[in-house]
Amino acid sequence: MSTPTPRLEIRNITRRFGGRAVVDDVSLTVMPGQVTCLLGPSGCGKSTTLRIIAGVDMQDQGEIYIDGKLICDTVFRIPPERREVGLMFQDFALFPHLSVAENVAFGLNGPKEKKRARVQELLARVELARFIDDYPHELSGGEQQRVALARALAPRPRIMLMDEPFSGLDNRLRDEIRDETLSVLKDEGTAVLLVTHEPDEAMRMADEIALMRAGRIVQQGAPYNLYNAPIDRAAAAFFSDIN
Ligand code: ADP
Ligand code: MG
Repeated sequence: MSTPTPRLEIRNITRRFGGRAVVDDVSLTVMPGQVTCLLGPSGCGKSTTLRIIAGVDMQDQGEIYIDGKLICDTVFRIPPERREVGLMFQDFALFPHLSVAENVAFGLNGPKEKKRARVQELLARVELARFIDDYPHELSGGEQQRVALARALAPRPRIMLMDEPFSGLDNRLRDEIRDETLSVLKDEGTAVLLVTHEPDEAMRMADEIALMRAGRIVQQGAPYNLYNAPIDRAAAAFFSDIN
């Protein structure tokens, strides 16, 4: 049986700042339709890795492939806007002067009717159809988050890159929004690379976890494998807070 082509593959990515490798020979894959979590403590190099995949930063070594096609090595480089990646960051705010519909349609090209249909489909999916003509300030934090998700999904990205997208939400909302987000992403069939420093978030959302520490991936596998068979004491301690 042949192995399917990964949706995203990064190979031996290294990024140095002032001589220090903050991302150090990192390789990982995300399979189609799956959620891979890049999990590790603050400062370990997660955001830098994500920025390199998005194309807003550049590696010193290594290659990135989407659906088996090279999008970036140290010489060749497809620009960010042509990588077909979706982005969601904690502080990735909606455009305040645009309506919900206009926010979701922002990255879409093509005929007006087609755009409208896609916007309606996505707003129905995140259960915000009734807010289509409202403005961001009229929505709650959780609702704004769902609009941001719809906006990021609108152009049908090959992969969604999410950098701690839930950390700005209060505890009460967070679990609910995580679950809703996951179900929307699964419905759309979008592959996801989710960056988080919270083990419970990774356990809840991931099909696969890549555990990162000081710039390196120390263990990658199914959540239960990392939880039940942590690679070392530090990994065990990291997961031990989960209840
Ligand atoms: P994480 O997202 O895991 O918290 P980051 O990727 O943001 O980690 O940062 C990893 C390390 O790289 C940190 O020590 C950070 O200070 C450093 N770093 C990130 N960006 C830069 C930069 N542009 N210049 C110098 N150092 C940086
Ligand atoms: Mg970060």
